[in-house]
Amino acid sequence: MPVIAIPPCSKLPDYEASIRRSGGQPRVLDRASDRPADLVRAVDGLLLAGGGDVQPALYGEAAHPTFSAAEAGRDEYEIELVRLAFDARLPVFAICRGVQLLNVARGGTLIQDIASQLPGSLEHKLEVPPHQPFELAHEVWVDKGSCVATLLGGRLRDADSFAVNSRHHQAAKTLGEGLVVAATAPDGIIEAVEDHAYPFCIGVQWHPENFWRTGEFRELFEGFIKAATR
Ligand code: MN
Repeated sequence: MPVIAIPPCSKLPDYEASIRRSGGQPRVLDRASDRPADLVRAVDGLLLAGGGDVQPALYGEAAHPTFSAAEAGRDEYEIELVRLAFDARLPVFAICRGVQLLNVARGGTLIQDIASQLPGSLEHKLEVPPHQPFELAHEVWVDKGSCVATLLGGRLRDADSFAVNSRHHQAAKTLGEGLVVAATAPDGIIEAVEDHAYPFCIGVQWHPENFWRTGEFRELFEGFIKAATR
């Protein structure tokens, strides 16, 4: 059973359940004792989970007033981890903050606060119970040639879009090296990225892990775990 590393975060249960449901074994990391260089040899995949904002200094900007820091040391730890994971060609699946972290690790930048910096944008920070039906959130338009479209093809409507949940106030601005857009919200916010140079590298801005009970977006976790199966 492939072992999937998850750096510690405050909402672990849904991530762990989603990995188990798809046939993987989650391993929650301890930043104090799990050295990234050792870890990438001991696990089969890396999941970058949601959480606080990546420090803007890491992409050369001053902090917006809405900046809400992640746990001390988490940014640096995850950046080292994800870089080593790519060196080792481990499958990487990034969710919400995880996409933002992945993008910054590759030299990209972030929209620090969608609501105030892009007036007129959709509401992306919907504070609803986590597994509410996704009709409550917004649509995403999916690039037909993307891995996201391949995995979630059954969900696509005639117009190449489907609805997602949404609990983020940041998103990728300029993309990091090697990353391409796989899905976009109707207001232009980047909702999914991929790197086709690696066996599995997908990042989504929404929260597929919240749906482990009902199975929506399960194909993303299944594709990830399949790629991590040696
Ligand atoms: Mn969104």
